[in-house]
Amino acid sequence: MTCEKCNGDMYYLVPNYRLEVMERVECMDCISHEHYKHHLSEELTKVLTKASPQKLALIVAELIVHNIDKNTHDDLSRVETIIQTKNLVEALVLGDVYNKQ
Ligand SMILES: [Zn+2]
Repeated sequence: MTCEKCNGDMYYLVPNYRLEVMERVECMDCISHEHYKHHLSEELTKVLTKASPQKLALIVAELIVHNIDKNTHDDLSRVETIIQTKNLVEALVLGDVYNKQ
């Protein structure tokens, strides 16, 4: 959901009439929402720590494959290459990249 105050920019402009300039003001709504999400992620991590590595790996693998397939600028052959070369580092990078989208 896009913030009505800052439109997702995390700040908005308000006029400073004394200096006759527009000033950037941090959007506290969005900042506190980001803090809340960070807190939830940390707490959820504690819960998920008790899951098996296999289950977590399955979730991440499905996330990567599903998102690469959806991305018209990416290609599933990337996954093929990672599997053939058993490139764990690249697999984790992919997970990180698609996690942030
Ligand atoms: Zn906002």
